[in-house]
Amino acid sequence: MKQYQSIKEKHPDAVVLFRMGDFYEMFGEDARVASRVLQIALTTREKNKDDPMPMCGIPYFASENYIAKLIRAGHKVAVCEQVEDPRSARGIVRREVVRVISPGTHTPEHPKENAYIVSLVPEGDRHGLAVADVSTGEFFVYESTRPLEDELSRYEPAEVVLPESLGEDMHYSEILDGLYVTTVEDHAFDYPRAMRTLLGHFKVASLEGFGCEGLTAAVRAAGGLMSYLEETQKGALHFGTLSTLTPSGTMFLDTPTQRNLELVRNLKDGSTEATLLSTLEQTLTPMGGRFLRAAILRPLVETEEIHERHRAVAVLVEDYDILERLRRRLRNVQDVERLAQRISTGSATARDLAALGNSLAPLPEIRESLLGSGDPLLCSLGEGLPLFEELTDLIGRAIVEHPPASVRDGGIIRAGFSAEIDELRNISTGTRDFIAALEAEERVKTGITTLKVGFNRIHGYYIEVTKSNLDLVPYHYVRKQTLVGGERFITPELKDYESKVLGAEERLKVLELDVFTGLLAQAARWSPALSEAARALAVADFLVSLAVVAKRHDYVMPRMTEEPVIRISNGRHAVIERLSLGEKFIPNDAHLDGGDERLLVITGPNMAGKSTYMRQVALIVLMAQMGSFVPAEEAVLGVADRIFTRIGASDFLSRGQSTFMVEMVETANILNNATQRSLILLDEVGRGTSTFDGISIAWAAAEHISQRVRARTLFATHYNELTDLAHLLEGVRNYNIAVKEWGDEIIFLRRIEAGPADKSYGIQVARLAGLPPEVVARAGEVLSLLEKQPKGEAARRARQMDLFAPREDLLLDELLGMDLEALSPEEVVARIRDIKVRSPRRS
Ligand code: ATP
Repeated sequence: MKQYQSIKEKHPDAVVLFRMGDFYEMFGEDARVASRVLQIALTTREKNKDDPMPMCGIPYFASENYIAKLIRAGHKVAVCEQVEDPRSARGIVRREVVRVISPGTHTPEHPKENAYIVSLVPEGDRHGLAVADVSTGEFFVYESTRPLEDELSRYEPAEVVLPESLGEDMHYSEILDGLYVTTVEDHAFDYPRAMRTLLGHFKVASLEGFGCEGLTAAVRAAGGLMSYLEETQKGALHFGTLSTLTPSGTMFLDTPTQRNLELVRNLKDGSTEATLLSTLEQTLTPMGGRFLRAAILRPLVETEEIHERHRAVAVLVEDYDILERLRRRLRNVQDVERLAQRISTGSATARDLAALGNSLAPLPEIRESLLGSGDPLLCSLGEGLPLFEELTDLIGRAIVEHPPASVRDGGIIRAGFSAEIDELRNISTGTRDFIAALEAEERVKTGITTLKVGFNRIHGYYIEVTKSNLDLVPYHYVRKQTLVGGERFITPELKDYESKVLGAEERLKVLELDVFTGLLAQAARWSPALSEAARALAVADFLVSLAVVAKRHDYVMPRMTEEPVIRISNGRHAVIERLSLGEKFIPNDAHLDGGDERLLVITGPNMAGKSTYMRQVALIVLMAQMGSFVPAEEAVLGVADRIFTRIGASDFLSRGQSTFMVEMVETANILNNATQRSLILLDEVGRGTSTFDGISIAWAAAEHISQRVRARTLFATHYNELTDLAHLLEGVRNYNIAVKEWGDEIIFLRRIEAGPADKSYGIQVARLAGLPPEVVARAGEVLSLLEKQPKGEAARRARQMDLFAPREDLLLDELLGMDLEALSPEEVVARIRDIKVRSPRRS
């Protein structure tokens, strides 16, 4: 207990699994927690004492599942092993914590997910971030001036590590609310110390080769993370390399956009059901699955790179033969990335090696198919796929086909691989023959026909004679044990044999483990190449998956252009079209350009399909930029540098922000960061406050976006007043989602058409929703009273013109921007007249 206490003191925040023989024991509070979480019996030590110590235990060979349960319940687990052989130890066996497992260092149960552990340090206006996945060996750093929430939501980290001094900081506690946070002493994040830690781990003299030299915040974050991991993972840690992310190259998706478009989690329950991920998920390997997820969250922005993926998918869509051959082979490939990582940290089992062997076997065919495709990207993946003939051969010769789970009990090395193992095995398998021969021989010698030779674990080998035959037992038999029906004996010859055989079995186990460890060390030489292969397989699998989905659901290859346009014919919402909602999905077109049609005001009754339409356009753009084909008949798309969304009311009351505040924060983010190359979806901006405030804000935002930012924008609203924008501002157009009236009912046509909606049909929708008839009727009366209020359409419009006439500076911009050379005098006069009409100071 003294030994236990001293170990527990060093790990107060973890449940300590204390190895005792074949069990891990837990004591005290840890035992209480574990028995509750794991549903195992709680007992006590030293029962006679007044205050007995609670304890519980789990068998070591089943510990993986138990550890996973503890981690899932939000606990850290410190695994304390016996670090010397109990048979040769003098006194109490030495024990040490060999690994501390936390959510961020535990391999997730879902193989197609990464377990990211992220560390961060603030420095001036930026954060240094380091991101690692211990189970795959991925490790990258960068610096960012973007909001930390957005950065974190890109990785959905299982654990966040930060300097101790930030642990108490309210700002950070708010951002990190709901995440598993670990703090590490500030010192580990000091630049010189961080640098030393990294140089030490990667055994290099400078970080220049990794591209992060000089990025002090990034290096500090990486150093802090590495010290934490080295401390907790001990020897079981290995990162082959460190990479530095550059901000360009991929699209940055902020948290609201990621959430609103339901990319990898749905808004309903946070699961992956009915998300873009689940719609596109046809990958066959865990690496491919992880790559797909990352590709969705980090779409490309370089036209050429996007093209490359499209071309590869096109080849796979068209060439059924290659696609099917790749799929057949990829099915046999397991998690090479994680297997490689386990090999390099020495934690792989014989089953892992066998799995690796099986996964490498299909590589030649995969490589051949890729090289045979004639497509540049697929060919380069093929070239990047080493064949590992030597390693495959080694594993094939060394490891049995179905090895046992444990590497300690033997039975893992194939016959013919080691002469010494074969010899020891012969001895143990020769036992049965020897016993049979000895039994026959002794029966003849003694004349006891029922004599038996046997073995048990406690007494070893014996000759058993029944009571009635005891008088026939020869003198040299030595009595060993008395039974009810007879006696057991041993002879010197049997004793000799026993020591030889028992020794052999023990030696065999030790030798098999030795040979296996040697094999691992040999295999570790291939681990950089294995990681490289894993990467090529991931991309190939990803492209194959995109091709399968494209074929199955009739997607087309989008044409990417540098122009800021979106031209989609008969586009569909990738996710909704596949949900069977009892209504056939109606495709729709979309036309946006950087000129006359850059901001579309979309009106239509509730439930008409405005949100669906807007999301459908954004999803098509995003899918195209991740390299996928798109659900449409035709699509011409200008690459978007960002996609922004402000959709619906999301409640962050738990964070102390009102719905309206959140809405405004999100809108501000868009107005401040969008560019001419962005795509913006705004749904119901200004709904969370009073009507006039709301209309005014929505109006001003639309004006700013269309005239200043000039981004392609879809702007859905229930404020019919906003349809006037199209008359007042260039670049703004009205669209509505059509409905048909049928008496008092409305029929949703789900078709987008030019022009504003004529009315809002709120009352009809309320009826559909089941509001009591008398309330619906009364609402109709109130509405008609309200509608009578303005004195005629002209007066209403004039009032609105006053209220919503464009700001003078915008008119001035328009005037200054007029290209006089390109216009006829009549056109110039017409434009100036138009500006005068729209001016707030018109007479
Ligand atoms: P609100 O203004 O109340 O937010 P909305 O106009 O945004 O409503 P959506 O939420 O987009 O409407 O759509 C309402 C329903 O119509 C959804 O359940 C959706 O599945 C269905 N729907 C939308 N568009 C289509 C379509 N093109 N084809 C078939 N069903 C559609």
